[in-house]
Amino acid sequence: TEKILNNREKLASIGQIAAGIAHEVKNPLTAVKGFLQLLKESHSHPYLQTMEIELDKALLTMQNLLQVSKPDLQEEPLVSIDFCKELESLMLLFQDKLYNVEVEMDLRDRETRVIGKKNLFLKAFFNLIKNALEAISEKGKIRITHYCENQWVHIQITDTGVGIPKEKLNMLGTPFFSSKMDGTGLGLTQVYTTIHEHGGHISVDSKCGEGTTFYIRLPVAG
Ligand code: ADP
Ligand code: MG
Repeated sequence: TEKILNNREKLASIGQIAAGIAHEVKNPLTAVKGFLQLLKESHSHPYLQTMEIELDKALLTMQNLLQVSKPDLQEEPLVSIDFCKELESLMLLFQDKLYNVEVEMDLRDRETRVIGKKNLFLKAFFNLIKNALEAISEKGKIRITHYCENQWVHIQITDTGVGIPKEKLNMLGTPFFSSKMDGTGLGLTQVYTTIHEHGGHISVDSKCGEGTTFYIRLPVAG
């Protein structure tokens, strides 16, 4: 039977393939690194150092890919998360990058909590805010809202950045999809898999030249 995969299923299967490849590639690379280190003990050649640096880059990419494709492997306790507080402290990390960007926080229903893996969420929101900042070239605005409705916590992140072309929207979250010169294309993969792993939903609305909004909802604790 033919079946058209929705975006989420597509993402999950791409993620699985990516994680499988990462796993398979990581092992031989680790072995090569071991032999390279042995070689360095008996031989000295400037290329050996360069080889090790490049090998480490590849290993880090594989490590990141494994982590983002399979967030359920991340062993972390489930805790009750105060998103308003976490978002406020997260913004402090970006303080020195905010000279041209106005940040508006509209955080309501502060008493609502979500149960989840805190570090995964922190990384996900870090990735979203980083993207929003990178989308703003000169002056701009980032707006973060938080409210509770019908047993869902809604978090929205809006920026007045470059926006995303319509035909690229369904590529978002696919590993290695990036429009940036030095992008990894793993940030949104981490975001999407984290939100989905916690039973949440994420969608995006964007207009070229005007900006982007990510809509996230997560089930309220209890
Ligand atoms: P990276 O930031 O390394 O490129 P991401 O996975 O974080 O990878 O994002 C993938 C791509 O999605 C980006 O390269 C960019 O094209 C697009 N994108 C994500 N967030 C935004 C945003 N807020 N505004 C405009 N484009 C965005
Ligand atoms: Mg990014």
